[in-house]
Amino acid sequence: MNDFTGPVLRPGDDGYDAERAGFNHAVEHRPAIAVGATGAGDVQAAVALAASQGRPVAVLATGHQPALPSAGAVLINTRRMAGVLVDPVAATARVEAGARWQRVLEAATPYGLAPLNGSSPHVGAVGYTLGGGAGLLGRRYGFAADHVRGFEVVTADGRLRHVSADAEPDLFWALRGGKGNFGVVVAMEIGLFPVARLYGGGLYFPGEAASDVLHAYAGWTAAVPDEMASSVMLLHYPDDPAVPEPLRGRFVTHVRIAHSGPVEEGERLTRPLRDIGPRLLDTAGEMPYARVGSIHHEPTDPVAAYDRVTMLAGLDAAVVDTLLSLAGPQAGTALAVELRHFGGAYARPPAVPNAVGGRDAAFSLFSGSLLDPARLAEARQAHDTVHGKMRPWSTGGTFANFLGVDDTTPGHVRTAYPPAVFARLTDVKTRFDPANLFRINHNIPPR
Ligand SMILES: Cc1cc2nc3c(=O)[nH]c(=O)nc-3n(C[C@H](O)[C@H](O)[C@H](O)COP(=O)(O)OP(=O)(O)OC[C@H]3O[C@@H](n4cnc5c(N)ncnc54)[C@H](O)[C@@H]3O)c2cc1C
Repeated sequence: MNDFTGPVLRPGDDGYDAERAGFNHAVEHRPAIAVGATGAGDVQAAVALAASQGRPVAVLATGHQPALPSAGAVLINTRRMAGVLVDPVAATARVEAGARWQRVLEAATPYGLAPLNGSSPHVGAVGYTLGGGAGLLGRRYGFAADHVRGFEVVTADGRLRHVSADAEPDLFWALRGGKGNFGVVVAMEIGLFPVARLYGGGLYFPGEAASDVLHAYAGWTAAVPDEMASSVMLLHYPDDPAVPEPLRGRFVTHVRIAHSGPVEEGERLTRPLRDIGPRLLDTAGEMPYARVGSIHHEPTDPVAAYDRVTMLAGLDAAVVDTLLSLAGPQAGTALAVELRHFGGAYARPPAVPNAVGGRDAAFSLFSGSLLDPARLAEARQAHDTVHGKMRPWSTGGTFANFLGVDDTTPGHVRTAYPPAVFARLTDVKTRFDPANLFRINHNIPPR
């Protein structure tokens, strides 16, 4: 294995387990060969090795979105490739494959610049961007993928290509939204935005207020400007000392807000939400953008998680009442459900067209639960019921970044894109990866 700088490990080797581990272990990676890539050369060598042995390639950055187990594959772990270089004058960043958003925030925010990260700063920036990337500045600026300037990517033929709107435009179009189906991205160049501060945080209402909160939220989101990002989650907090005391062991309706316009305006826009009633906890206030990850306050320790998504065309009283009957405080479900406000710039076409789906959605509806393998059938049934009952209000689509471990058939992946986009993605796949080397993912098969 002279072609490699990083470790090349097989089952039983020291370090093999660390190379295949990720955040969501609902799917366990057991590759034939795990490569701890240190740069483009290792990625090229790993792709060539896989091709020569007739093995598929799997890519693991943080493991936030597992799809298929990688048995028999060459798995490329990108976590050592975590460099971030900011150009404050151009307002851009070069982000390597394994960098988490936290690293990008640390590099960009000292210049008063913000990336288009999502709710958790522990998610990988490249994996997130390849799937569109819907974040807390998205209603104002669009999807993260809309602001990629270029990629360095190793394709199935082992070539390292520099891809942009001018060079390899079809590949550039497909990579922005089509996820890891077209190659292994070594680095990307992204645009940054002049957002230094937010008015943001969480308003945690008691369970009995869920109906009031959701009905008020539906009306409130219809009127807020694009600078206001928000979501609401219904969840039962465990009775765990790690949970803040007022929330411990309780059913909570958690509204999250992030306003990137003037702080006073954010405070004013939040008032109608506060008027709904008393909060168990209210963390909303002015904050530096660097602390954006505190707003959703999502888990960081590895979990086995199961989730599903439906994109909704709107949010009216009928949607709210149906959702409450399925996942409200009286429903007795173990699922947490979340509505995220889309619209705004998400719905507008980007300057350079790309393959991102979900632009027609007004909200995403996400359901999540911890995965107990012994009760998988029960969990599936619970998620099926929620998304089945919400189907009348669905756009008919999903969103690539929110596809879960049960969404891996081509039929499922197809739902993340408008039909013409999926057909073009299939064309690009057929051209650049005819043998489907990159298939250990939410796969778009070649013809
Ligand atoms: C707690 C949490 C919060 C989230 N919040 C948001 C959010 O606010 N907005 C949003 O849009 N999404 C969000 N997501 C979804 C997230 O964007 C996806 O899970 C994303 O795919 C994670 O990428 P990753 O590299 O961290 O994960 P991984 O599981 O390591 O990778 C995910 C997929 O991307 C592929 N991939 C990763 N790196 C590369 C690469 N360099 N080249 C080619 N393919 C690659 C992998 O092969 C895999 O198929 C969230 C997920 C979680 C669990």
